[in-house]
Amino acid sequence: MLEIKNLSARYDAVISALEKLDFEVPEGRIVAVLGPNGAGKSTLLKAVAGMLPFEQGEICEGRVIFDRLLLNGKHPATITRRGIALVQDGRQCFRNLTVGENLKAASFQTPKGNAERLKLVLAYFPILEEFFDRPAGLMSGGQLQMLVIGMALMLQPKLLMLDEPSLGLSPVMVQAVFEVVERLHRDLGMSVVVAEQTVPRLMEIAHDIYVLSRGRLALHAPPHDVSQERLHDLYLS
Ligand code: ATP
Repeated sequence: MLEIKNLSARYDAVISALEKLDFEVPEGRIVAVLGPNGAGKSTLLKAVAGMLPFEQGEICEGRVIFDRLLLNGKHPATITRRGIALVQDGRQCFRNLTVGENLKAASFQTPKGNAERLKLVLAYFPILEEFFDRPAGLMSGGQLQMLVIGMALMLQPKLLMLDEPSLGLSPVMVQAVFEVVERLHRDLGMSVVVAEQTVPRLMEIAHDIYVLSRGRLALHAPPHDVSQERLHDLYLS
C-alpha cells in the first residue's frame, strides 16, 4: 500500500534527517517505527504526509508511493484526499472550539459521508460524545489524544499514521490508545503506522517493526525478533 524507496530528507538544505530509507506498509497492517530522540521517525511520517515544506524540509532523494501514486511534491491536502491521515505529536486541535466543532473542522477535506463517520468516531470514543459541546481545551492529555485520533478518522483514511501518541500519558491511557489502534485494524482493516520511542504494548500488536537510528534503518524485523534488550543496545549505539 505504501512503498518508500531510498528516501533521503533534510531540513534547511543541510540538516540530514533521513538517509536512503526503504520502508513498506502492506494493506491492513500495523507497522511500528521505533527509535530514540532525533532518529527521524517524525520526519518519515511528515515526508509521507507532504508536511516537510512547512518546516523548510524536503525530500532530496527517493520515492514515496501510495496506492500506485507518487506522493513526492504533492500538497498535504491531496495526500489526505488520497487516504492518508497523520496525527502529529502535540495533540493539535482548536482548543477554543468544542469537540464537535473540531470533528466537523477535521472533515472539511472530505465532507461526503460526514454523519456516518461522526457516528463511528463517537462509537469508538464515547468520551467525545460526553465532551461534544464543551471546548477541547478542557480535556485531559489522554482525552485530547482520543480527539485528535477521532479527527483523523473523520477523514476516512486508508492509512492512519500516529506520531508518538503515548507521549505524556498514564499507563492506563497508553493502554486505551493502543486498544483503539488494534480495534481500527481488526474492525475496519485499517493500515496503521505508529512512531514511538518504545512501548511494549505496541510491540504486541504490531506486525512489523522498523527501528531508525540517526536517520538510517537500523533494524527491520517481525516483533518476535525484537527484544527489549536488542532495542536497548540499538538505542545506546
Ligand atoms: P523524537 O522522538 O525526539 O520526536 P524523531 O525520531 O521523531 O525524534 P525527527 O524529529 O524526525 O526525529 O528529527 C530527525 C532529525 O531532524 C533530528 O536531527 C532533528 O534535530 C532534525 N529536525 C527535525 N525537525 C527539524 C526542523 N523543523 N528543522 C531542522 N531540523 C529538524
